[in-house]
Amino acid sequence: MLSFSPATPKTTTISTRLHRDHHTLSHHSQPPSHLRPTKPHLRQRRHTLKISAIDAAQPFDYESKISTQFAKSKTLKIAIVGFGNFGQFLAKTLVRQGHDVLAHSRTDYSNIAAEIGVSFYPNADDLCEEHPEVILLCTSILSTDKVLRSLPLQRLKRSTLFVDVLSVKEFAKDLFLQILPLDFDILCTHPMFGPESGKNSWKDLPFVYDKVRIGNDESRVSRCEKFLDAFAREGCVMKEMTCAEHDQHAAESQFITHTVGRILEKLDLDSTPINTKGYERLLDLVENTSSDSFELYYGLFMYNKNAMEQLERLDLAFESLKKELFGHLHDVLRKQLFGTKERALGVMQKPRALSKLPPNGNGLVLPPGSDSTTN
Ligand code: NAP
Repeated sequence: MLSFSPATPKTTTISTRLHRDHHTLSHHSQPPSHLRPTKPHLRQRRHTLKISAIDAAQPFDYESKISTQFAKSKTLKIAIVGFGNFGQFLAKTLVRQGHDVLAHSRTDYSNIAAEIGVSFYPNADDLCEEHPEVILLCTSILSTDKVLRSLPLQRLKRSTLFVDVLSVKEFAKDLFLQILPLDFDILCTHPMFGPESGKNSWKDLPFVYDKVRIGNDESRVSRCEKFLDAFAREGCVMKEMTCAEHDQHAAESQFITHTVGRILEKLDLDSTPINTKGYERLLDLVENTSSDSFELYYGLFMYNKNAMEQLERLDLAFESLKKELFGHLHDVLRKQLFGTKERALGVMQKPRALSKLPPNGNGLVLPPGSDSTTN
């Protein structure tokens, strides 16, 4: 028997938005004419036109189908290569957002992947034959060259978007440009947070990106935007900058943070019954940095050309601080031993305060007079 339900009168936000995107919808977000109820006298005629599966034309089904389509249009098929600590961390959010997430790694993570809702491919050929829209490289800095060269690129669609999350950016960019055929798009990114700092939320956490090579056609541009939106919609602070700028800033901030955290870790600091807020922050820093692999830290050093200067500046600052302290101490002792005589001879000098090191990139030499060894 034929039956008709009235068109849903409500105009939902989603249907209004869909109207803009899908020309198939009428002005009042009604279903297209072939799905709308007909006047009774037309029923017979329609019947002769063989409209039979009337249940499929229910407005409810129609709207739910369109809204599923709409949600799908915002999602991507993303293949994570390197499914370790950080790859798994990103996958959880991408799956929650509705993306179709696939993964491949040197280690077999099938069980963990299944728990997260990710399809795991132990074989890279099988992964690439799934034709993901995005390959998201989450490999260690040191292994990325090898992993990228080992991927069967010929099995991918020619327009695939390659994204990396390496904590050093010029290295990743050069590698992509060197290895990937011109047809592939390239987006270099660095989420400036990790499984510890971003465990509760990504809100207000910085996300750096550089659109190194994105084709002009609309589908490529929108695919890149969709990928970036995965971070923007979590509340990340989106920072577009060149890979070179990133590496300069990261050496001055992230590398210093990791180095200080690792120095303090070597002290094996304990919590005390009288922790100050400052000390609590130091303990947090140790926890944050020690949960990252040493390989990651080594990569920050090896593959960021600005890191060595920062390490030497840190060394110099520590030496300079020690000299200032010892200079004061030396002065007190000298005063005790020879105070009256030296004062009479005019030898006593006021210990000089420690000068700051010259700004980054201006060499490592202290300005004249800042060396407190003279005290
Ligand atoms: P990681 O130690 O830097 O990298 C671990 C990943 O690299 C694993 O997927 C591992 O695969 C893979 N890998 C290591 N050596 C390999 C080799 N010889 N051949 C093939 N694969 C190899 O730790 P991570 O924290 O997961 O970091 C991954 C990437 O994310 C790094 O590039 C890092 O700079 C970046 N990142 C990390 C953070 C963070 O907070 N952790 C934040 C932003 C960006 P298997 O597990 O299969 O062995």
